[in-house]
Amino acid sequence: MATEAATDETGELYEEFLSTVQRLSNVGYAQQVLNWDQEVMMPEEGTRARSQQLSALSAVGHELLTSEEMAGYLDDLEAADLDPEQEAVVREIRRKHERATRVPTELVQEISETTSEAHPKWKQAKAEDDFSIFAPTLEKLVELKKEYAEYIDPDKDPYAVLFEDYEPYLGLDTAEETLAQLREELVPLIEDIRESDVELATPFEGEFDDETQEELARDVLDTLGYDWDRGRLDTAPHPFSTGTQFDARVTTRFNPADPLGALTSTIHEFGHASYTLGLPDEHYGTPLGEARDLTVHESQSRLWENHVGRSEAFWERFLPAMKERFPQLEDATPRDVYEAANTVKEDNLIRVEADELTYHMHIVVRFEIERELISGDLDVEDVPEAWNDKYEEYLGIRPETDAEGCLQDIHWSHGSFGYFSTYSLGSVLAAQLYDAAEDDIDDLEAKVREGDFEELHAWLTDKVHRHGKRYTTDDLVREATGEDFTADYFVDYVESKYGALYDL
Ligand code: MG
Repeated sequence: MATEAATDETGELYEEFLSTVQRLSNVGYAQQVLNWDQEVMMPEEGTRARSQQLSALSAVGHELLTSEEMAGYLDDLEAADLDPEQEAVVREIRRKHERATRVPTELVQEISETTSEAHPKWKQAKAEDDFSIFAPTLEKLVELKKEYAEYIDPDKDPYAVLFEDYEPYLGLDTAEETLAQLREELVPLIEDIRESDVELATPFEGEFDDETQEELARDVLDTLGYDWDRGRLDTAPHPFSTGTQFDARVTTRFNPADPLGALTSTIHEFGHASYTLGLPDEHYGTPLGEARDLTVHESQSRLWENHVGRSEAFWERFLPAMKERFPQLEDATPRDVYEAANTVKEDNLIRVEADELTYHMHIVVRFEIERELISGDLDVEDVPEAWNDKYEEYLGIRPETDAEGCLQDIHWSHGSFGYFSTYSLGSVLAAQLYDAAEDDIDDLEAKVREGDFEELHAWLTDKVHRHGKRYTTDDLVREATGEDFTADYFVDYVESKYGALYDL
């Protein structure tokens, strides 16, 4: 009897806790909708009101998360007898609660004000190709973020603490080993490709109008199985996706010279959205109904973009639809498009324009520079030279300006140190997951060729999406693939793919 009464009490307490958690999540989702609107719909002058609206919601969320009430729930529930799903919810909220309470409000405020100032400085520095305009603000952000890390965990490498804002469970060691492995294996591969005299096909000549490209983007989303009752497609200057399992939106952008760019980017965002849509409806507003952070999210976008969307099988399926929209492609073959989609751009300096292979060297450069900035081994003023030296060493190219060098990305102006590596970790995990899916699904390649994605969706939902944050990242990878997180599959995949393409 006593036990039953205790169980009832715990059940009640858990329900109260959960409804606070849901309120907190709903505040966050409302912020996301406002952010989407700001990127996609809002007139320019709306910014002034929008930033107040967002910061008001941010304050409400912070209060809910750090309240005495929340602290009490967490203490009581940690002492109670919970089932594994409930334990996971408590674990996730505890983690957020700790990170939010340890950092003083004044520091949070200062970081937020400094990033607001940093954005126009960065923009101006990039436009005028003058790093010195951005350098003082960057220096301040580095100091503030070090302070921030110190509050969260004074005994840990501050860069590890910052990294855990984006990927909480794989650990900085794993990121470091993974990126070192990529550097070791990919630098010589890129070198060999540079020396190869194979010329890949270039079927996309001339102009491809935006309107038709948009129709084609809708075709590709139809082909992949996007749920239009729970999603929509719009354009945005920097494509992104956002939302919940009931409303997961994607955006794209069009370049008249590069119809493939819009398609691969649309497929990428589709991958993110299909993860969000695969989260369980019944756990909406709780960690069990939320995606597992950036590494896993990026694994879903890159799996669809690279392993499906850049495969020859996919183009055997999709090229006829593209020819219908763009009759000038009449003579193109699936092989041509496959080659175009996988051409290594040896001279490209810009991360967001990089191919699937050299991309990771762009990440390695940023990761190494961030590490040294945060540890104090590199001064802000020396960033441009360090950047250029690393590009020369890893990619064999040297930026001539800072605008196309260390000023190209927005991330540092947001104070986001530790973010970049999750892009590579996501690609690596995509390869590991796709390999496991190929083991489980009978002739997956033939299914891609037929445009039959049902089993792949079902597999990803079963192995990844439906769990939400039930497992930590490392456990989720083991649950899904039977193995620890590893870059081996990715390395094998690029070696065999590019080896064949470039006749190495
Ligand atoms: Mg992405």
